[in-house]
Amino acid sequence: MKLHLKNESDTLKLGEHIAQFCPSQHFTIHLEGDLGAGKTTLTRGLLRQLGHHGNVKSPTYTLVEQYRLSDRAVFHFDLYRLSDPEELDYLGLDDYLSNNSLCIIEWASQGGNFLPKPDLIITLSYHNHSRNAELTSLSAEAKVICDSIQ
Ligand code: ADP
Ligand code: MG
Repeated sequence: MKLHLKNESDTLKLGEHIAQFCPSQHFTIHLEGDLGAGKTTLTRGLLRQLGHHGNVKSPTYTLVEQYRLSDRAVFHFDLYRLSDPEELDYLGLDDYLSNNSLCIIEWASQGGNFLPKPDLIITLSYHNHSRNAELTSLSAEAKVICDSIQ
């Protein structure tokens, strides 16, 4: 499914919407798109909707930032600087996958086969001064989210 996001507020709202319709069991979102395409902006909308009030820092160097929101663990990955997917081994990814966690992964393609399989893939792209988003649902739960978007 394709969406046009005409400004930053639209990107934030898409993140909020996804948070509202996200299942409470384990769920993984892969975010793809060039630098500045809006991946962190969308994540910000999502985290705020889940109750996060502070800043959302890009975990560019730490690779992952952890939150505890709405009684679940939420992990925000940014794999832009990952040089080898095997580095993910050191993060102990298994811990991130258990217990109804929500994983949001920027630059997921950098992680190769070490990452949790996505339920939802969102690819953001530049469209003049605005953005396009393409959503691909790979699970029934993700389909519910896509179907709820007008
Ligand atoms: P990424 O994480 O993909 O590198 P960011 O979310 O950090 O990108 O930055 C995206 C930039 O684009 C921000 O300055 C943000 O305000 C802006 N932006 C986000 N969504 C849109 C949109 N739909 N239209 C125009 N600008 C946007
Ligand atoms: Mg980013």
